[in-house]
Amino acid sequence: MLTSDEDVIPYSFDGTAALKQRPLCVTFPRTTEEVSACVKLAAQHGVPVVTRGSGTGLSGGSVPIANGVVLCLVKMDRIMELDARNLVMRAQCGVVTKEIDDAAAQYGLFYPPDPGSMKISTIGGNVAENSGGLRGLKYGVTRDYVMGMTVVLADGEIATLGSKCVKDVAGYSLKDLFIGSEGTLGIITEVLIKLLPRPAARKTMLALYDSMEAAAQTVSAIIAAKIIPCTLEFLDRMTVGCVEDYARIGLPTDVEALLLMETDGHPAAVADEAARMLEIAKQNGARETKMAGDEAEGARLATARRNAFSALARVRPTTILEDVTVPRSELATMVKFIADTAAKHQLLIGTFGHMGDGNLHPTFLTNEKDADEMHRVEAALGEIVEKTISLGGTVTGEHGVGLAKKAFLRQQFGDASYGLLKKVKASLDPNGLLNPGKIFE
Ligand SMILES: Cc1cc2nc3c(=O)[nH]c(=O)nc-3n(C[C@H](O)[C@H](O)[C@H](O)COP(=O)(O)OP(=O)(O)OC[C@H]3O[C@@H](n4cnc5c(N)ncnc54)[C@H](O)[C@@H]3O)c2cc1C
Repeated sequence: MLTSDEDVIPYSFDGTAALKQRPLCVTFPRTTEEVSACVKLAAQHGVPVVTRGSGTGLSGGSVPIANGVVLCLVKMDRIMELDARNLVMRAQCGVVTKEIDDAAAQYGLFYPPDPGSMKISTIGGNVAENSGGLRGLKYGVTRDYVMGMTVVLADGEIATLGSKCVKDVAGYSLKDLFIGSEGTLGIITEVLIKLLPRPAARKTMLALYDSMEAAAQTVSAIIAAKIIPCTLEFLDRMTVGCVEDYARIGLPTDVEALLLMETDGHPAAVADEAARMLEIAKQNGARETKMAGDEAEGARLATARRNAFSALARVRPTTILEDVTVPRSELATMVKFIADTAAKHQLLIGTFGHMGDGNLHPTFLTNEKDADEMHRVEAALGEIVEKTISLGGTVTGEHGVGLAKKAFLRQQFGDASYGLLKKVKASLDPNGLLNPGKIFE
């Protein structure tokens, strides 16, 4: 357990800009039973508990509460079972996401969800945020791979949910309640994960455009052609410029949009789909296309997207990464609205994201010490969120509500559904000790 100022400072914030709070202490349990003991003790004394994985969250979910305990679960890092006959893996919550897929790969298996933070984030954090990634279009998000879990409840009791059975409809699907619950309903200590056979082949392509509309049209046309690629990601002009400056991969910096496309599966199907996707990109106005010759070149092309956040983060002292999501048909409208909003408020916003999922990451490059600029950021953020809701979108596609989005949740849900969310919280955490202040105002 850490208690001194110097020791707890690194646990006072997560990946979200401008949010900090010193906790009372930080504890590092190693087993479900130790988590249970901590929670029982905290419940006895009425002390709030904030669960933390690697702290890479982008909505303030693991920012501590004053006088609260932080349960940091990174030492719960054991893969407990890889059952290749049933295509499942059981892991403690602190295992790093990439290690899950690396372990699966040794058996020719595949764990598809690949958040940009996969080299650092924990599987428990991924489940608690229902994280997505670059392969979401074809393979879905974390929820689609959770078959079961062990959860420590608000009173310290230990519940086991779900099973290895492919079909299991016994009772309510309680595990689903905890997926995306952001540490507000219970502490997920172990996860039972579904694995897939590893795809035998993959092709990676880039297409460069003089207009964002043309890139969006390409995405619609690919889907209309009944191709479901595993990845359809885009970068806007500012992001391409920052990536090139950072990674020097030879991208032209005068393009309005870059599309990263990937298809995987049987080699014959991959070759056919890749050729058709490049053709569709050209028909829809791509000024240049590239297909990687091999895996290594594919990884190099994908670097453009994988480095987008880090490249943008170098430009100004503070980076605020947004996560709005709209129906795919509204993507071009939304991207234009973001660019207009940036100009109106004289702000720097680079936009990239999961074009195939309608999930955009407008990234504010700003300075939290400049009060005037931060007011403009706040105004622009509010306008972007309002527009998203008016287009039938959602305030968060993958980063969660946490502290950052809680002001907008009632508006998106409406009174009746918001009330339902609060009833669930009140019934599972009646004393409000699990991650208080998050999700709800
Ligand atoms: C560079 C970068 C790229 C990113 N890319 C993506 C992306 O592509 N897709 C995406 O979805 N997200 C992305 N993220 C956001 C973030 O990595 C994810 O939300 C991730 O799942 C958080 O995992 P973590 O272990 O860091 O959790 P933390 O940040 O520590 O916690 C996140 C939330 O989960 C709760 N929590 C953590 N562990 C548990 C547990 N065991 N039981 C119950 N509650 C728990 C916490 O209380 C908090 O509310 C990115 C972040 C960064 C910094």
